[in-house]
Amino acid sequence: NLSDKLDRAFKVLKGQGTITEINVAETMKEIRKALLDADVNYKTAKAFTDEVRQKAIGQNVLTAISPGQLLTKVMNDELTELMGGSTSELNLTASPTIILIAGLNGAGKTTFTGKLANYLKTQKNKKPLLVADDIYRPAAVEQLQVLGAQIGVPVYANLESKDPIAIAREGIALAKQNGNNVVIIDTAGRLSIDEAMMREIEQVKDAVKPHEILFVVDAMTGQDAVNTAKVFNDRLDFTGVVLTKLDGDTRGGAALSIKSVVNKPIKFIGTGEKMDALDVFHPDRMASRILGMGDVVSLVERAQQQFDEKEAAELQKKIRKNKFDFNDFYSQIQQIKKMGNMKDLMGMIPGVGKMMKDVEVDDNAFKAIEAIIQSMTPYEKGNPDSINQSRRNRIAKGSGTNLTEVNRLIKQFEDMRKVMKQMSNPAAMANMMRRMP
Ligand code: GDP
Ligand code: MG
Repeated sequence: NLSDKLDRAFKVLKGQGTITEINVAETMKEIRKALLDADVNYKTAKAFTDEVRQKAIGQNVLTAISPGQLLTKVMNDELTELMGGSTSELNLTASPTIILIAGLNGAGKTTFTGKLANYLKTQKNKKPLLVADDIYRPAAVEQLQVLGAQIGVPVYANLESKDPIAIAREGIALAKQNGNNVVIIDTAGRLSIDEAMMREIEQVKDAVKPHEILFVVDAMTGQDAVNTAKVFNDRLDFTGVVLTKLDGDTRGGAALSIKSVVNKPIKFIGTGEKMDALDVFHPDRMASRILGMGDVVSLVERAQQQFDEKEAAELQKKIRKNKFDFNDFYSQIQQIKKMGNMKDLMGMIPGVGKMMKDVEVDDNAFKAIEAIIQSMTPYEKGNPDSINQSRRNRIAKGSGTNLTEVNRLIKQFEDMRKVMKQMSNPAAMANMMRRMP
């Protein structure tokens, strides 16, 4: 587990005032090993650690954060930069915009074709048409037709034809006729790279002059994904990469390697089989995923922006002494409302994300939570442990909610208090990170 190894690597730095040449060398060796284990290729890992070392050395460690935390931040920034810095958007200016989908069999091309159409239709207000250009597997045409029906997007197929170039041209002609402003062409793959497949897709490319060529690759294939990407890029000069199957335990190390080997942006990631399991690729989020620490860096940054420093210090003290009560909880909710969605925010804290998924808190839930807290007496707010069964019944009635909701809130509050207490204690925090997948 990468975070486990990083944690061990950071131990070396503990208690040091500044990051120096000596204490950072050992750490970088560990980090390089950890990156290799996460499917990052050797050249990339080496370049990365060299860069981080240079940036980290000599930085003064602020009292508020440990050298390990500072280094994590430096690493996070560097990884983000390596993966392209910011999100790379599709070029959708032409009408119709022609998008060619390429990749090996089973990479997830057909699934992605459906997902992309769904995304363009629902998020970008486009009118896509899909072209079934995989003529070798009859089931492939049907698969695309089923997906098209599911998302309400037309599919052009020609089961009579054995000519993928002609089919692609026919599809584009139909799109022009029907006013479809995006055409997505799902092509045939092979089990492995072969010359016939490459020539065919090159010919389709020459014939239709696509505005985007997206190379789809299974992130679970690790180092193979990098090699395949290189071969496809040499032949097709694609415009972007789609990493699929990032819903499992896959660490995403392939993202880093592919970007550094082919120097093309990753544009989307697939996170499941359903049509809405598609995310626009965010280099910063992938960096956190590779580091295995949730989105803790942006949490820190956002928290620093919004919280009054003094108030935060006060709160820290309370959390450490386990004196965090419903008054604090209430004022936290007000802060959080200012910051954005609560679930988003809590989801950024390592270990809390899963908890919040089960709890299913949405912004409307604040209303009930606020009502419940307002129905507590000042004594109860200051002494959460005093809230027994009869008090809960009274609070439920007073707040116009019910006992289940009151119980749930108190349970959530207790869970939150536990997590906060752990987070205020570096040793426990490290322990928590070690337990993460
Ligand atoms: P193609 O041969 O490249 O067209 O690949 P398909 O689109 O037919 O996908 C192959 C298999 O991978 C199918 O069973 C898909 O449901 C599955 N699949 C595709 N994308 C994802 C993904 O992001 N996550 C998961 N878990 N499965 C995926
Ligand atoms: Mg297919």
